[in-house]
Amino acid sequence: MSRHAVITVRVPAKVNVQLGVGGLRPDGFHDLANVFFAVALGDLVTARQGAGVKLTCEGPGSDQVPLDDSNLAARAAYALAAHHGIEANVALHIEKAIPVAGGMAGGSADGAAALVACDALWELGTPTEVLHELAAELGSDVPFALLGGVALGRDRGETLSPLPVPGTFQWIFAVADGGLSTPAVFRECDRLRAEAGTGHTSEQVTTPDADPALLAALAAGDPKALAAALTNDLQPAAVSLRPSLAETLRVGTAAGALAALVSGSGPTTAFLAQDAESAESVARALRESGTCRAAHVTYGPVPGAAVLADWPGARLPAGVSCDGYRNCAENEPRSQ
Ligand code: ATP
Repeated sequence: MSRHAVITVRVPAKVNVQLGVGGLRPDGFHDLANVFFAVALGDLVTARQGAGVKLTCEGPGSDQVPLDDSNLAARAAYALAAHHGIEANVALHIEKAIPVAGGMAGGSADGAAALVACDALWELGTPTEVLHELAAELGSDVPFALLGGVALGRDRGETLSPLPVPGTFQWIFAVADGGLSTPAVFRECDRLRAEAGTGHTSEQVTTPDADPALLAALAAGDPKALAAALTNDLQPAAVSLRPSLAETLRVGTAAGALAALVSGSGPTTAFLAQDAESAESVARALRESGTCRAAHVTYGPVPGAAVLADWPGARLPAGVSCDGYRNCAENEPRSQ
């Protein structure tokens, strides 16, 4: 019997501060130039002893989260158990704050959190490199949810190079009604490119690369320079499928955001603010506009998936709200 009856892991959502999309490859994938940025808007995943793998979920959009073995958290538990040749016995509870199907890699985050939670509950001490290999097999966004911080992703996103970033950036995320399917947004991106006559295959589109201006802005911790360099090649496709996003982006910019962009494949929209005060007024304007279901003020970069007790609340900037990290102001272990 484990010494730990309950393990709670918090895991960040991501926003892509650069999402460069190459042409459609013959294997159906796209080459990406992906710069991931972890934000404190995150989920909590709690693991308890159980028989088999059981899942429960609460929070906004939790009715859209599958509770069967297709859930990435369940798949992570099975993958870790199989790697060690043990039976997967765990009850996993997910507290969602990351918008479901929102372009912030919420499912991937829960997969990463479940790897860390089960590893601790089952006292396996799995080496970090092995956790990353298992994460990459689960999905291309899962390794970043383990790593956190800011990182350049190559291939389909799973080969990561951490980027040191000084300071903290203030973000606002506007949650839209309903989700967008990531494959559908990539298909729309291909369709728009073909329609525009610019070509959409990997032979026709230049392979994207990390933008030096963006990397310099991150290295300097400079929000204005970062705002000028934010790009998302999926944005036209997300806005084409959900035209109302254009108005949400406009409202946030008019309210003083340094920059506005669609987060990943959308429909969540992301706004970078100069400081915490400006972030609050952008969020207020977004809520009052009625163009989104909710607007969350948060910040980053933050670390990747970690057992709650390992992430001291003392490291969080004072006065910053942290949706999804409900116990972040306490420095109390929740493992027993
Ligand atoms: P992407 O990683 O493609 O950007 P996303 O952030 O847009 O994804 P997710 O919240 O990860 O969206 O959900 C995408 C789909 O994954 C959901 O519609 C759901 O069916 C499935 N899914 C599997 N596991 C989970 C999970 N733990 N939480 C949320 N969705 C999950």
